[in-house]
Amino acid sequence: MSIKYLSIYTMLFVSGLFLSLSYANNELPVADNHYSEQFMIELVTDNLYVIHGLNEDPNPTNRGFINNPGFVIANSGVIVIDPGSSQEIGEIVLKRISKITSLPVIAIFNTHEHGDHWLANQAIINKYPNIPVYAHADMIKSINDGTGKHWLNLMRRLTEHSLLSTSVYTPTHEVKNNDEIVFDNLTFRIHHYGLSHTHNDIMIEVVELSTIFLGDNVLNKRMPFLDDGDILGNISAINEVLKLESQYYIPGHGPSGLNAIPKDYLEYLTQLYESVNHYYHEDMSDFEMKEPIKVSMTKFSNWLGFEKELGRHISLVYLQIERDDF
Ligand SMILES: [Zn+2]
Repeated sequence: MSIKYLSIYTMLFVSGLFLSLSYANNELPVADNHYSEQFMIELVTDNLYVIHGLNEDPNPTNRGFINNPGFVIANSGVIVIDPGSSQEIGEIVLKRISKITSLPVIAIFNTHEHGDHWLANQAIINKYPNIPVYAHADMIKSINDGTGKHWLNLMRRLTEHSLLSTSVYTPTHEVKNNDEIVFDNLTFRIHHYGLSHTHNDIMIEVVELSTIFLGDNVLNKRMPFLDDGDILGNISAINEVLKLESQYYIPGHGPSGLNAIPKDYLEYLTQLYESVNHYYHEDMSDFEMKEPIKVSMTKFSNWLGFEKELGRHISLVYLQIERDDF
């Protein structure tokens, strides 16, 4: 990056006013080409693509592009899974799709209520009004009850107002476990196993392509946000999905690949639960057990957020075990 470019780039982020004027004029910021070039399409299998977001937390530089928007091309149109966290990111996804096919987008799926996955619905809907947006019924209810607004404000704060032009577009169509939605030659089968990463996760199996979009039930090389979930529920959801023996796995964050990805994440959750449970029954406090658990779980120390989040994870699991104990 040249110094000249860096200064323009930096300017963009120190001036919320500049950003808002750019968006008000319906123009992307000057540095858009550089920004969007980071997000390349990757072919996972025939007609199934993922644009992997950065393995970072949302910040002003990445403008919230941290999840894995996916798209699948059926005979008559494109199905988008988790288009991302903002209007701008949704537009980047649309541009990438148009490089691969001239077919229209005919549906969207949202995997759960966390806004880094679905706030970009708006961009897709602006271009393709009235297409169905599928999600679990509890996600739709939760978004309408205020979670949508909460996530919009949170993402705006974390990215220092990169999402000024973004608004909440709630999913329109409810799905539940075992539902199958067929688009021409492709079947999208829904898997929902109760409280897991949240209470409204769906995992989406594209049956003919032997691929599963896991949502945040599985992350790759990254510590999860466990506050809205249940670790035992998450462990059991991963065990269920592994029984399907699909070939390809798309995590909510981090690179896609084979079943080593869900197995790795399952190992993290299982070791965490078993360690906390072990020390809990030795009457140690969550604070006291942090150091020995950190040592025994060094295998995961290269995951994004390991140092920062491990203590919080231990406390959350501790509370859950304590609750189950009474
Ligand atoms: Zn999530």
